[in-house]
Amino acid sequence: MEIVKNIYQIPGVFANCYLIVEPEGLTLIDAGIPGNGKKILQYIDSLGRSPHDLKRILITHADMDHVGSVSTVKKATGARVYSSAVESQAMAEGRSSRPVKAGGNPLRRILFLMVGRFFSAKPGPADELLTDGQMLPIMGGLKVVETIGHTPGHLSFYLSAAGVLFTGDSIVADEKGLQRSRPNFTWDAAKVGEAVLRQAALGARIVCPGHGPVVKDAAGKFPA
Ligand SMILES: [Zn+2]
Repeated sequence: MEIVKNIYQIPGVFANCYLIVEPEGLTLIDAGIPGNGKKILQYIDSLGRSPHDLKRILITHADMDHVGSVSTVKKATGARVYSSAVESQAMAEGRSSRPVKAGGNPLRRILFLMVGRFFSAKPGPADELLTDGQMLPIMGGLKVVETIGHTPGHLSFYLSAAGVLFTGDSIVADEKGLQRSRPNFTWDAAKVGEAVLRQAALGARIVCPGHGPVVKDAAGKFPA
């Protein structure tokens, strides 16, 4: 479904995946759980584009629900994978970049462990390492924003021309609106707080979170 012109959310995948469409190529943000590759490729096809049009896969963080289908999509498209150095290392080793704490919502935890168990295909390391403040030539400039806290190498991505911020799991959404990274999945809560402040200061009009619905008219809706 189209969020704004040329920015789409891919339906039917777990952990939100977003697609930025330009004439010269496509950019995917996060790649769902293992087994979501087909849905991602079908969606590219539904837009009348070829798998080989996918040029980049940007990774917010190396949790299984965000990198589970990286290897499948990469193999089918030839896209290059971009992440922070910390998350790249975790992807190379097929693990999360931080320990997952016990407790919390038992269902979420069981799901997480199940996904981990079937996480046989390692995503592999990134092809390109990203650092804070870097600009990528996507829709007039996509800014890499370091938002560590949920994980030690977490990144968000900001399209300033469109006013669209992709937060990964540093900010997620539920029926009540935007929320901080869930405590039980958080590596460092204080750093999440700093990350939220940085993100709120960007002036984004639309927030595309790693989980939950996209939030439009986002000013003033960032979590406290
Ligand atoms: Zn997630």
